[in-house]
Amino acid sequence: MLTGHRICPVSTFSDYIASLKANNSFRQFTPVMFDDDTHITVDGRKCINFASNNYLSLAHHPKLIEAAMSALTCNGTGGTSSRFVGGNTLIYDMLEERIARFKRFEKALVFPSGYTANLGAISALCGAKDCVYIDKLDHASIIDGITLARTKFHSFPHRNYARLREILARTRSGCERAIIAVESVFSMDGDISDLAELRRIADVYDCLLLVDEAHATGVFGARGAGVIEESGVSADIEIGTLSKGIPSAGGYIAASEEIIDVVRNRARSLMYTTALPPSSVAVAHEAIAVIESMTEERAAFRARCRAFAERLTSAGYGLFGTQSQIIPVRTGDNDRTLAVAGALRNEGIFAVGIRHPTVPKGEGRIRISINRGHTDEDIEALYNALTRCRSL
Ligand code: PMP
Repeated sequence: MLTGHRICPVSTFSDYIASLKANNSFRQFTPVMFDDDTHITVDGRKCINFASNNYLSLAHHPKLIEAAMSALTCNGTGGTSSRFVGGNTLIYDMLEERIARFKRFEKALVFPSGYTANLGAISALCGAKDCVYIDKLDHASIIDGITLARTKFHSFPHRNYARLREILARTRSGCERAIIAVESVFSMDGDISDLAELRRIADVYDCLLLVDEAHATGVFGARGAGVIEESGVSADIEIGTLSKGIPSAGGYIAASEEIIDVVRNRARSLMYTTALPPSSVAVAHEAIAVIESMTEERAAFRARCRAFAERLTSAGYGLFGTQSQIIPVRTGDNDRTLAVAGALRNEGIFAVGIRHPTVPKGEGRIRISINRGHTDEDIEALYNALTRCRSL
């Protein structure tokens, strides 16, 4: 994924801000209120929310709210210190054991976010003599982990595994440890890594395979454990978040006991930051049980996402090859992307316009995130609004 700081270097802060504004790349927060799992009030207007990563619509689930309330009452509001300094509450161990069981890895280690999990895992496992091989569209947290690790890296064109093989054949002997790091479901394109092929490549070239399941957890796999479960392929390291399908906060790494021991002892993004509030840990723990039990709902949800993507494709929209609940609709340059996002908002549809530099120039898109709680009427309203905005 491209990041904001790659924008042209400028001499003063005011020049920088002016250049962002001139390119329609200036970012500001949108004030909103979450009304329920699928509705949001934006600038006083009630909209259907197609911007949320609350994929399973569980953020208002009574059992999860009860888990949070009870942890708040018993354990207080804050994490209060680093897990190494102030002690480690039992609920953390319970969550790590639960994640390991859910994801079928030996051990798991919880971080304050998915971002810090990628940062911590990559910087703990790699150094100057090692190398990380990344898909060009990998998330910023994987790239920032590489920067923090001061390790070598090579990026291969998106899902182009023939090129990955070529790059490895040329470079693998020049480094000690090697990691191939990919997202399973790509956050901006909604397409999926071929994990079986990546496993074969990792085995041939003696690499560890790291898979970021941030957008797959809860949605893919019969138990909702992700694309690793659905594909039946084994990864060496899984990174995930507790803030999307699992609607809490935090992140994790799941791996062998040995890898987890190394990361626990080396990851600065774990050591030098405060633990999550106990209520977030409790919600994540409870959510896994709810998610595992949703096999039928998950299948129905996936079928609806597929049907909607097929309908848009038949109508001629460009969808970047989506294979998931993330359905990006091509809008082109930044101006048009902003215009379409604004027009959709006026139609009562909240969906973010993703612009350069987050995505390559000219590949702006409306990132539609279908959630399980969206009704047929919600999706029909979205389709009709997209049709009306098409000529912009
Ligand atoms: N990995 C991927 C693929 C992501 O999309 C994100 C966040 N959008 C993260 C990691 C970071 O997760 P978190 O939001 O929990 O920091």
